[in-house]
Amino acid sequence: MLNLQVNIDQNSGFCFGVVYAIEMAEDILQEQPYLYCLGDIVHNDEEVKRLEAKGLKIISYEDLSVIQNEKVLIRAHGEPPSTYETALNNNLELIDASCPVVLKLQNRIKNSHDKEEPIYIFGKHGHAEVKGLLGQTNNEAVVFQDISELDLDTLPRNLTLYSQTTKSTDKFYEIKALLEDKGIAVNSNDTICRQVSNRDKELRHFAKKFDKIIFVAGTKSSNGKVLYNVCKDVNTYTHFISNSEELDKDWFSENDTIGICGATSTPMWLMETIKEVLLTY
Ligand code: SF4
Repeated sequence: MLNLQVNIDQNSGFCFGVVYAIEMAEDILQEQPYLYCLGDIVHNDEEVKRLEAKGLKIISYEDLSVIQNEKVLIRAHGEPPSTYETALNNNLELIDASCPVVLKLQNRIKNSHDKEEPIYIFGKHGHAEVKGLLGQTNNEAVVFQDISELDLDTLPRNLTLYSQTTKSTDKFYEIKALLEDKGIAVNSNDTICRQVSNRDKELRHFAKKFDKIIFVAGTKSSNGKVLYNVCKDVNTYTHFISNSEELDKDWFSENDTIGICGATSTPMWLMETIKEVLLTY
């Protein structure tokens, strides 16, 4: 036996928006045999598999446009107005689990758009939340994930800046400063969710405390990739895995201290399963 000392980071795991969406899905699945969900309910295949076994059916936008008279769950990322229109046309009952933080941001962006402000959104192209935000502006806002995508000389002299909820706070303020240096008046709205904005700092602290780190996330989680790199940066003995089968006993030595952590899309049950496997080594 290797006698590993294993600790799970108590700050890792689902944010409240994801917890709320999953609870809503599970409640409904107790009353009916299946429930459609538009897009992955969470960017974690293991959790999606668990919910699919209970009857959750993940559907695409294409599927949404053809089904009728069904209940469809909207996940935490939120949706653009066009999804609500499709639902109305197809007589679909939407179970709206959009995160309240995202809904508030959608409203703010809609208000800015109504006031005809030039809107710039710091966010990932094509991300579900960003599509929902862009939809509030009739797809007229500019989305950028890196300042280099903007031509600073031709930008409006006054603009309104928003951020996708999961972006880095440091980067957001860097962008704001850069724009202001160029003489642009920025009406900036730091709309980064506090459930994620300090995760990198907390993880940096956590990852330093152990000999080795097991970072658990789905390969589709962009937040997972960022946070894995944060851990790897302070602890070179950091391994990325998506499930317990990917563990390798050869990574560990006798009496190692191990920290298990993950992204905001990593379920706590999965980290606990991984801990149990490590304790058998
Ligand atoms: S990260 Fe924040 S905004 Fe996004 S779903 Fe979770 S709680 Fe809501």
